[in-house]
Amino acid sequence: MTRVTADVTFLRGYNQALVMAVGRTARTFERSTVVEATGLTPQAVSKVIARLIADGLIRPAGVRRPGIGKPAVVYALVPDSRYAIGAHVARRTLRLVLVDLAGTVHHSAVSPMPRDFTPEQLLDALSVGIDTMAGIGDLRSRLTGLGIGMIGPLDHANGLVRDAHGLRHWHDVPLREIAEKHLGLPVHLDKDVTAGITAEAWRHGATFGDAALIMVESGIGGGFWLGGAAHRGAHTNAGEFGHTVVDLTGPRCVCGRHGCLEIVHHRAAEAGDIAHAARVLAVGVVNLLQTLDLAHVVLAGADLLRHSQTYLAAVTEAVGADARRADWLSTTVALSSLGADVIAAGAAMQVLDQHYGIPELAHPLIVGS
Ligand SMILES: [Zn+2]
Repeated sequence: MTRVTADVTFLRGYNQALVMAVGRTARTFERSTVVEATGLTPQAVSKVIARLIADGLIRPAGVRRPGIGKPAVVYALVPDSRYAIGAHVARRTLRLVLVDLAGTVHHSAVSPMPRDFTPEQLLDALSVGIDTMAGIGDLRSRLTGLGIGMIGPLDHANGLVRDAHGLRHWHDVPLREIAEKHLGLPVHLDKDVTAGITAEAWRHGATFGDAALIMVESGIGGGFWLGGAAHRGAHTNAGEFGHTVVDLTGPRCVCGRHGCLEIVHHRAAEAGDIAHAARVLAVGVVNLLQTLDLAHVVLAGADLLRHSQTYLAAVTEAVGADARRADWLSTTVALSSLGADVIAAGAAMQVLDQHYGIPELAHPLIVGS
């Protein structure tokens, strides 16, 4: 096998990105599939295919002999040719997953973090965790990078953690830059919920419409998939869904306002009334639907998944009843298909998309196989 480092395998060419996007979304494909999906010329596609085979990213997988016309070579992705590690940084835990080029999660490990951990403590924990994961099957040379999904607010564009809620030592920390230096790997930093919705979009494929991933884990956040891409907002700070007000005279929230969804939900959950907490969350979700007209709502986060059926029932009922939707408006409500791994898996997929696809568009092309 060709041994190449992450640096030289970075696919700069747009054509390569297009062909890889097809290869990663279709199980098998032919040159004509790519020509049809991308609009590239057959000659251009042949060139790119030859390069991708040389890099070990795809392989010839037989010949299809149609009744009429010439036989066609069939190609397939080589999923284990590249991997990415995804990290979900929460207030008390660090979860790492190993994901292959096809988006399959291979390993998942969670470790506790010290209360109020510092950037240095996180870097050390990442370093140990990555060494362990990369050691499985000696993957270092096939490791594309590290994706970090983290508590916000953060500035995705500049790789800065602005003021992670509930973590004292995280004010304007250039995490992407210091992690790249410390770990010797390309790093992609995003909000936890945005990473999470990317994973869901990847798994659901081209039919995934406008959607939100609602995460309840310490706080409440929302990740958005709008118009076929992750929506981050003007300052890459979209998703502070927990800090929308649902009770004008409600208790004071960590953000300084009164009656935020997060604090009202938290009070109910703290009192042990999970059914009420779930109804509070459901009100917030319906507010979102009224604002954004979403096709899918995905529920995630450790605190929610612990009572998954209660939350699923409350949100499903509220979406059906409160939204007063006409029958031409339908919204699916589901638990995350990746469970507790969804944030870390999405962070890893963002790295793979950036290097072996078209960033922001997990499914830019509808392809047959
Ligand atoms: Zn608040």
